[in-house]
Amino acid sequence: MDHYDVVIIGTGPAGLGAAFGLLEGAKPPSILLLDRHSYSSGGLRNDCKMNFSWPIGFPVGVWDEATALPYLRRVEAFLKPDILEKRNVSVYAKRAERLNSSLIEIRQAHLGTDGGLELIKRLMAELSGRGVDFGLDEQVLKIEAAPKGNRGWIATSAKREIACRDLVIAPGRGGFAFLQEVMSALGIAYTDNVVDIGIRVEAREERYAIVKDYYDPKFLFPLKTRTFCTNSRAAHVVQEKYEDGDGKPWYSVNGHAWSESRPANGLANFALLRTITLTQPLASGQAYARMLGAQASLLGGGAPIVQRVGDFRLGKRSKAAGLNGDLYDFEPTLKSATPGDLALACPGKILEALWKAMKTLDTIVPGILHPSTLMYYPEIKLYANRPSFMDGNFQALPRLWLIGDGAGTSRGITAAWASGLRAAEGIRSST
Ligand SMILES: Cc1cc2nc3c(=O)[nH]c(=O)nc-3n(C[C@H](O)[C@H](O)[C@H](O)COP(=O)(O)OP(=O)(O)OC[C@H]3O[C@@H](n4cnc5c(N)ncnc54)[C@H](O)[C@@H]3O)c2cc1C
Repeated sequence: MDHYDVVIIGTGPAGLGAAFGLLEGAKPPSILLLDRHSYSSGGLRNDCKMNFSWPIGFPVGVWDEATALPYLRRVEAFLKPDILEKRNVSVYAKRAERLNSSLIEIRQAHLGTDGGLELIKRLMAELSGRGVDFGLDEQVLKIEAAPKGNRGWIATSAKREIACRDLVIAPGRGGFAFLQEVMSALGIAYTDNVVDIGIRVEAREERYAIVKDYYDPKFLFPLKTRTFCTNSRAAHVVQEKYEDGDGKPWYSVNGHAWSESRPANGLANFALLRTITLTQPLASGQAYARMLGAQASLLGGGAPIVQRVGDFRLGKRSKAAGLNGDLYDFEPTLKSATPGDLALACPGKILEALWKAMKTLDTIVPGILHPSTLMYYPEIKLYANRPSFMDGNFQALPRLWLIGDGAGTSRGITAAWASGLRAAEGIRSST
């Protein structure tokens, strides 16, 4: 059996933040970072927009502004981002205010999917150079407490057993199911009653011209609806595969953009999401999302659905043949999406909020409701299994630390990194 002081599961920003945080001490522990993929598959790899403003990415249940800001400053000092410039923000903000909405101004950097990959390589090389070991292509299957009389934990991967004093689990959104299994097996209480459901909107850049002034504008609309993750210049819609309990696949759409080094395609995309909080009888947000995802996949013939705004307004489904024409002047970037009817797949209450937000947005940034604009469904953001923590450093059981998007301590790259730093402080102060 291999032995380490600290084992970190997940090489996303939360895991990397924890590793770099642990190296800050005078006598750093021995560290093993594990990932089921041969690279960090997490958020740094996908578009890599880094937000440096409270509260973007910070779940308010476990963070407040005073706690988050010093960590945000440390993340920024470490990653040294080039903050994007913004123009004319007050013009859009005033229009939004008049419509009972708001535009949040944030400090943001954008590396692009290719730039994020370079960053990951650089960070992993730096960690290796400072003595951190990596176990890549190594999925962790099981976690157990060390046998009686011993401190710590044993992680069983597909390749070996590893004993450690402190175990940090940072498996991201893709690791929700794994984390739920771990928490159920170890008797850690958790809730997961919140979920974001929405669409991804794709339009020609000139019909969402704000992206020339503000790369990722965050609008907040009534009915807990907001824009999220805007991409432009060389922007694409993608699909992510998930599985329901029986192993049947369903898809959520997402978006990303390449850095300046790739050719532009003149399109922009962004998510429009409504937050749903399930109450009595308390249900799992993930189970609800899975059900909606499976329903969309059924109607889409095993793929997400896409509909032109022009068709939606007329109450008719989009068809492949109708996606072209003089009014419909660009091709969907997600080729696999099935032209269809959002209203058949999306619950009425959610669709109503999304459509109201689209109309409001069109008044703030005229053009987005052009008939050619595409709406892809579903875009689903699973909130995490929120564990009950023992302390402010995200310790769930003695010497077991649960961080990042999977554990509900973050909802973005910088907050995930900050969660890692916070857990590292907990480990350092308890050894
Ligand atoms: C397509 C896409 C685009 C995004 N774009 C942005 C963006 O531009 N800006 C932003 O701030 N946020 C973005 N996000 C959100 C961002 O990805 C997350 O907030 C962030 O990555 C969370 O970090 P994390 O370390 O908690 O998890 P992740 O980054 O997801 O990392 C978790 C890691 O754990 C590994 N893992 C999981 N289970 C196991 C296991 N059992 N054994 C071993 N390894 C395991 C995974 O392979 C993964 O590498 C995006 C997300 C997606 C999906």
